[in-house]
Amino acid sequence: MAKKKAVSLEGAVKTDAGLTYKGVIMEEVDEKCEGCERIAAVEGGKYCPTYAQPARKWAHGVCNFATHVRAEVDKTGAVKVNPLKASKRAARGR
Ligand code: SF4
Repeated sequence: MAKKKAVSLEGAVKTDAGLTYKGVIMEEVDEKCEGCERIAAVEGGKYCPTYAQPARKWAHGVCNFATHVRAEVDKTGAVKVNPLKASKRAARGR
């Protein structure tokens, strides 16, 4: 059973243009979103309640709201993406 999420897309409506939520067209999540706890399944698709266009969040690096990975900048200035362990996720909630 999926955990009940704090943010849902309740009331989202599927239209010819795509899923709309509060007047905004929602795009399906990016493949990089896979594993993120924020993903919400609606009408057979996966959507992000936080961003209408998840792919855009990843176009400039790492989504800052992702629950499954975190970006770290190393000494050379390169961005590294690290998977988060469940325990670290819990600690983040402090
Ligand atoms: S919060 Fe970020 S990583 Fe998670 S589903 Fe939304 S866009 Fe994807």
